[in-house]
Amino acid sequence: MQINLLNIFANGENDYLLNCELEQDYVVIDGDFKYFTKPLSVNGVITMLGKDEYRFRADLAFSYGTLCDRCAKDVIEDVEFSIDKEINIDVDEEEYLQGSVLDIDDLVFEEVYLNLPVKTLCDDECKGLCPNCGADLNQITCDCEDDNIDPRLANLKELFKEV
Ligand SMILES: [Zn+2]
Ligand SMILES: [Zn+2]
Repeated sequence: MQINLLNIFANGENDYLLNCELEQDYVVIDGDFKYFTKPLSVNGVITMLGKDEYRFRADLAFSYGTLCDRCAKDVIEDVEFSIDKEINIDVDEEEYLQGSVLDIDDLVFEEVYLNLPVKTLCDDECKGLCPNCGADLNQITCDCEDDNIDPRLANLKELFKEV
């Protein structure tokens, strides 16, 4: 969604209320795939501070799905945070600003990317997958857990014991 800052204040008001929903399917950050489960809701206000200066404040709420870093289980995370940004259309050189036209999606999603947690765990206590056999250690206890040996090699070890 694009807004021309010079036009929205043409009626003499200093505040412009912005309540909208932004659509985005997914993002890939550092090779991590995250998908949005519903449109991102924006409740905010743009305030005119001066001829070229504006302030953008908004509360954001969204949820996204990603994989647990340890066991690769699907996890849905709910996120809420606020943006408070000053914009000067005379000096700012930002991708979301073309002259006096503000691209709300670009501005908001830039902040969203910065605020997404780097680590995702399905549970703080997640035991993850066994590095040897790939078993989900939250569900079962595998045999290779103690000595860290591939089960295919375990028989060999027994053999050597007997020699
Ligand atoms: Zn997990
Ligand atoms: Zn194992």
